[in-house]
Amino acid sequence: MEKGLLVYHPARVRKSRVFLPQVLRSMICNYFHDSMFGVHLGATKSLNRIFKEFFWPKMRSYVREYVTNCEFCPRAKPPSNTRVGLYSAETDSRPMQRLFMDFLRPLIRTRNGNKLILAMVDGFSKFVWLFPLRDMTSKSVVKILIHQVFAQHSIQECIITDNATVFNSKIFNDMCFQWGIRHVNTSPYYPQPNLVERLNRNLKSALIVFHHDHQLAWDKQLHTLQMGVNSTFHEATKSTPAELFLGRSLNHPLQLQWKLKLRWSP
Ligand SMILES: [Zn+2]
Repeated sequence: MEKGLLVYHPARVRKSRVFLPQVLRSMICNYFHDSMFGVHLGATKSLNRIFKEFFWPKMRSYVREYVTNCEFCPRAKPPSNTRVGLYSAETDSRPMQRLFMDFLRPLIRTRNGNKLILAMVDGFSKFVWLFPLRDMTSKSVVKILIHQVFAQHSIQECIITDNATVFNSKIFNDMCFQWGIRHVNTSPYYPQPNLVERLNRNLKSALIVFHHDHQLAWDKQLHTLQMGVNSTFHEATKSTPAELFLGRSLNHPLQLQWKLKLRWSP
């Protein structure tokens, strides 16, 4: 027992986990899979997050079964012939090297007038930014890049986009020139892994569910979705985006409310 909680402390492992009574198991699965924080990211990812804090007998099969029975996940599963995991020869060795950027759409216009999401992914850490937008203009994109990304995290060395007009305007090109950023357009002649496309595929379940429940206010919870994705274990990097990008895990509300131990390093 530790502070009134029954904990499981396996041999040779420093961190103990809270033993979860039967009545709370489904609720925890819901929190780490269905909520905006869980973002429907599949059994392994959901398990990894639950594993960090909790323990109960046969939890692996419990979580797998829970996710298998999720009514929303199958709707958005990528087709089995999708070549997920395809990367170009060019790889990143540190954060802020390559930023992949695209729009997720179409979405129903919210009360605030937002109707699309500008999504960005850092190539190295897979750290994600999601911004609700009213319109697809170069001016909005440049403003967000400068104020929300560069000002807070420094400038990306290279930005990768498709060849949409919004990314090839004078405003966008001037911004790249001014900040010393290399801009690469993906094209059939210069194929690049489009990390945003993959992100879109991964977020599809979460977006469908969330969109369905909050058609006119999905933009108000986008930050939670972003936090959920950034604290989810990534198969390719074997870390969470936050751990690689910020050097620490993100706190989540349950952790703070239940006073679970905080982890400051991967
Ligand atoms: Zn699901």
